[in-house]
Amino acid sequence: MGPGHLGIAFAAKTAAPKAPLWSLLVASETLDLLSFGFFAVGLEKPGVSKTDRAHGVQVITPGKIPWSHGLFMSVIWSIAAAALARWVYKDQRASAAIGLTVFSHWLLDAIVHPPDLPLLFDDSPKIGLGLWSSGPGLIISGILEFILLGGGIALYATSRKRKPAGY
Ligand SMILES: [Zn+2]
Repeated sequence: MGPGHLGIAFAAKTAAPKAPLWSLLVASETLDLLSFGFFAVGLEKPGVSKTDRAHGVQVITPGKIPWSHGLFMSVIWSIAAAALARWVYKDQRASAAIGLTVFSHWLLDAIVHPPDLPLLFDDSPKIGLGLWSSGPGLIISGILEFILLGGGIALYATSRKRKPAGY
C-alpha cells in the first residue's frame, strides 16, 4: 500500500497520546523502510511489475521480500518495535500502539499486494489478496488509501481540538 499506512499512524496517536506522532508514522512504514535497507544489501529483491489502468499491477518478476514483509518477520519486527517503544517511552499504550502500527502495515499490504508476502521465508506459501491486480481493484485501493489517510488525519485533528492547549 502507499499513503494509507500513514492514516493508521494518525489514528493510533489518538489511542496512545504518549507515543510521538513521528514515531507512529515511522512505525507505519517500518516494513518498507526495512525493505529499502535489505534491497541495498542484497538480502531482498524488489519485484518488477507494470501498471496500467485496465489491468492494474501486473507482476513480471515477483519480489523477494521475506525479511521485511514475511508474516513471521513482520511479527518479529512488531514485537521488537513494541519492546523498543516500551523502553524509550515507559508507557504500555505507546508500546502497544507502536507495535500494532508496525503490524498494520503487513495487514494492509496483504489486501493489496499480489501474493508476494511469504508466511515464513523464501520457499513458504505466499500471501496477498491482490486488490492491486485489476483495473477496478486499483481504483478501489486508491479510494481505500484516501479514506484511511483522510479518516486518520480527521480523527487526529478532532482529538487534538478536544484536548487542552499544549498537550
Ligand atoms: Zn509494504
